[in-house]
Amino acid sequence: MPAPSVDPNLSIAALRAHLAAVQACERCPRMHRPAVVGRPATHGILLIGQAPGDKEPTLQRPFAWTAGKTLFKWLHGALGWTEDEVRDRVYFAAVCRCFPGKRPTGGDRVPSPEEIATCRRWLDREFVLLRPRLVLLVGKLAIQQFYEVGALKDLIGRTLPLEYHGHRADCIPLPHPSGASTWHRTEPGKALLEAALQRVAAHPAVAAAEQATKLRL
Ligand code: SF4
Repeated sequence: MPAPSVDPNLSIAALRAHLAAVQACERCPRMHRPAVVGRPATHGILLIGQAPGDKEPTLQRPFAWTAGKTLFKWLHGALGWTEDEVRDRVYFAAVCRCFPGKRPTGGDRVPSPEEIATCRRWLDREFVLLRPRLVLLVGKLAIQQFYEVGALKDLIGRTLPLEYHGHRADCIPLPHPSGASTWHRTEPGKALLEAALQRVAAHPAVAAAEQATKLRL
């Protein structure tokens, strides 16, 4: 029997209010606002990325540009879900919700430890609201918030136990789908990514999310 996908006590109104509060947040002076939020997906799957790029604040959705195209291609290949279905079924969070700006030498600035700690309040609240069964960590910065990361190859392709503020979930780490990274396009990264995506596809939270959204149609 499939397990229930949604915390029966979860209030969509509370989640919408939460997303509005994140969007209005101005706590970090160096960050480029507005913060980027996704849809109020209540199906027990929480995806935690790193931080938005420069396009996402304008387009107002996480993973809206090139890395997103790759991420949604991965998920479509493994789950058969369209981008729209992923956005409806997976709650998108991030280590930091605002674009950090560019480094003088090029590339996006890595958020400071203070900014990461400041933004953590939103994630803490999301664990309370969503009680996720499956957590997808996308990219090294996100994985580092929960696990010691030596080499990515030691973690990608595995399902890890995650305990956060007393809440337990399964965690499947994924590499960052950035075009600048070759990790997921060369071995052993390619095979490990495939193994990780198969684990996502086989997780009961995925079937439950699919069933729940289809029942709503
Ligand atoms: S990074 Fe997070 S805490 Fe900082 S301003 Fe953006 S939403 Fe607020």
